Amino acid sequence: MRRHRGWRTSGAAWVGAAAAAWLVAASCRTMQQPRTIPAGPAPQAAPQAAPEAGAVVVPTPAVRVGILVDVSRVSIGADTGVVVSGVDPGYRAAVSRATFVPASTGMRVLPRFRVQVASLAEQAGAQNVAVRVEETVQIRPTVQWNPQTSTHQVRVGAFVTRDEALRLATRLTRSGLPGAYVVEEGPPPAAGRIRLLETGEELTVATVIPSKPTDLLTADAAPYRGILEVRASEMGGLIVVNVVHTEDYLRGVVPNELSPLAFPAMEALKAQAVAARSYVLHHKGEFAARGYDICATQACQVYRGKSSEHEMTDRAVAQTHGVIATWRGQAINAYYTSTCGGFTEDGENVFDGESIPYLKGVACAPERTAWATLHTTAPPREVGSEPGLGRDLSLLVSLGVLDPALEAPRKLSGIPTDPEIRSWVARLHQALHRRECESTVNGALARRGTFAQYLVGSLCWEERGRRLLAPPDSDYLLEVEDRASLKGEEERLAAAVLIQEGVLSPFADNTLRPGAALTRGEAILLLARAAERAGPPALVAAEFAGMAAGQVTILRGEEPESFALDPAVRLFRSLDGVRAAASELSLAVGDRVNLVVADGRVIFLEAEQSRKGAAADRSSRYYRWEARLTPADLARGLGRYGDVGTVRDIVPRRIGVSGRVVELTVRGSAGEIVLKGLRIRAALGLRENLFVIERETDSRGAVERFVITGKGWGHGVGLCQVGAFGMAQSGSTFEQILQHYYTGIQLATAY
Ligand SMILES: [Zn+2]
Repeated sequence: MRRHRGWRTSGAAWVGAAAAAWLVAASCRTMQQPRTIPAGPAPQAAPQAAPEAGAVVVPTPAVRVGILVDVSRVSIGADTGVVVSGVDPGYRAAVSRATFVPASTGMRVLPRFRVQVASLAEQAGAQNVAVRVEETVQIRPTVQWNPQTSTHQVRVGAFVTRDEALRLATRLTRSGLPGAYVVEEGPPPAAGRIRLLETGEELTVATVIPSKPTDLLTADAAPYRGILEVRASEMGGLIVVNVVHTEDYLRGVVPNELSPLAFPAMEALKAQAVAARSYVLHHKGEFAARGYDICATQACQVYRGKSSEHEMTDRAVAQTHGVIATWRGQAINAYYTSTCGGFTEDGENVFDGESIPYLKGVACAPERTAWATLHTTAPPREVGSEPGLGRDLSLLVSLGVLDPALEAPRKLSGIPTDPEIRSWVARLHQALHRRECESTVNGALARRGTFAQYLVGSLCWEERGRRLLAPPDSDYLLEVEDRASLKGEEERLAAAVLIQEGVLSPFADNTLRPGAALTRGEAILLLARAAERAGPPALVAAEFAGMAAGQVTILRGEEPESFALDPAVRLFRSLDGVRAAASELSLAVGDRVNLVVADGRVIFLEAEQSRKGAAADRSSRYYRWEARLTPADLARGLGRYGDVGTVRDIVPRRIGVSGRVVELTVRGSAGEIVLKGLRIRAALGLRENLFVIERETDSRGAVERFVITGKGWGHGVGLCQVGAFGMAQSGSTFEQILQHYYTGIQLATAY
């Protein structure tokens, strides 16, 4: 899911203008002999193996994607070899594999960005400033005489990138040393060259195409459509650019931004495709200085080439071929966010910049429909006092092990007969698709110790006891008060195995009571644990993927599976291991569920939920989350924005249309700063700006911990992806989805 990138207001919009056809090696009219001969049986044939120049064409409109940035090495291949050409006069070589490294390895770019804090005529004054700077940022500045300006210049830090230097300058300004700005020292880095290891040739830019136009190139084993270009980065590494048709680029983006497995709704995927297409056209050329149009990470749109393509998202791209969202005839800056929490926010409240008419906060009720609510006609029933017995009974009834008639407290407190126990165990094996072993025990099966031995024998677990449990293990597991009451070695081992497998637990007084009689209820608890231990195929653990038209969709492998929901399904919520029956259950996409399916219908469904919210599961990470931060945690995150001393309080200063905190005041022992938009999330390390703050204080009233409870995930601007899925599920088209989240836009065809 896309997070964000910096705001851009200047219109790099690109609509309809067809780029010139991108002909590979068009400049390579003069063919040069390759310096090495490709691996193969007929070396003399190698030069002729290279195809004619221009044989591989990336159709227009193409996009240049920076797939690998600042890497130290890349290996490019194709099934039948590759052809490397360079702009360096007509260079061309056919090789089985092309490996590039920076030509000037070891020659790292020197840090040349510094922060100038002051420029003073008096040396003493400059020295004073230097002392204050060092106290503030703990970095020793230099004081240099500049004959051109006749001043003593105080400069601090040395950074490879301008951004890092800018952060230090901002920090100084906020700490009461205004006027700090970034300066460059020393000569600019020379344009680097790259070396093709297979030939030893040095090039400035290499273009790599497959020898056979129908082959796909791989970069470090990942396949890419289109062609690849390699050049040196200013950081001393390599930049690998995938030049690819825009529609093929989108096939490698959409599944990473909205998973067709977790969100299998065609209209939502089509809306995502249009948003991603609009986004790339709007941002095209943003990284031109580094030789590409757009990056391949979350900072732009996640692109993983051919390996991430999926049949459903391919269709979503094809069915919206060339369609973009426009405003005043130009492709919009189509921001999208994972889960908005119920209301999206105005763009200018989250990103710096002027108001954008189509990025307005809107209600996102559809998000709730993405959270399916399951109902059952079979309400929860009270069946006994043992915790979890109702759920275990339901599980075993659903599995066909027990008769529903048992669901009566009076029956459950009774002692089961031998034939009853034998029939339960036999049906348990049938339900679990396990072969039952013959189990010979003496005496009544309802004696707890005997039951344990019988169960272990019939589950064929005797061997686990003999071979997987060392004597010290069973001694350790059997440190119960009444271990002497276990009859013989067989019973001892059976009890140890059941404890180890999580089937048997001691009573609260640390006894196993092997000589006591077992009630039906107690037997059910043990059998249910054994069923869980066996797991699939009877009891399916999966991820909830949606609910539509009475069908529950789950994911447990690659492909989603759908089952009808039985009207009398037994519903349970498991909250940190405590299971409670429910008459309705709200599920989010991605929730962990356990279910029993019989004759194609879901008859038992248990959702795993967590009180902790954010920490434990994916659904609440989307929807509700909590962060607990100490003042020290806050000071760490604030570091790059300023220093307020010891953090005393954080107070929302301005609330946006959606309820998001868009300005936040941080008060400390040494002053206060105001954070805006995305910087709030970054400084506090939160998932969203939609939150409330509570405070835990010590006995003197000082804040010990800020308890921040929030909703949503992402920046909250533009199309809400989970909301789009909800809209699609309730029958909206991709046009309606886009028009809901982008105010006043029109759809148009860009090419
Ligand atoms: Zn939403």
